[in-house]
Amino acid sequence: MAFNIDNIVNGAKDVFDKAAAKAGEAIDYSKVQIDRSQLRGKIKEKYVELGKICYDMHECGDDRTGEMKKVIGEIKALSAKLEEADITVNAKKSKTCRFCGTANDAVSTYCTKCGEKL
Ligand SMILES: [Zn+2]
Repeated sequence: MAFNIDNIVNGAKDVFDKAAAKAGEAIDYSKVQIDRSQLRGKIKEKYVELGKICYDMHECGDDRTGEMKKVIGEIKALSAKLEEADITVNAKKSKTCRFCGTANDAVSTYCTKCGEKL
């Protein structure tokens, strides 16, 4: 049997590429997860801010409707971003295994539960 260095190099490169692609997916996926939790936190903060403006307005009697409208606009923008991120995450879980029925990431090649090719 002939010893072929190219086969070994190509084989190693293939393994490396697959691992790199997988790591890229993982980073990308967790980035979306972090974005979502940050967005949820920001939305919560904005609701607190809105509540405080409302409280102060009733306490002092000043008209702060303009400020409230601005915060409401910010909440709407953040909610739209969160919805987008939710869609991204849900779209990733769109490959159902025909052997065991597990929902896998859309980019997966093999089932995470039973290992069958998707
Ligand atoms: Zn499966």
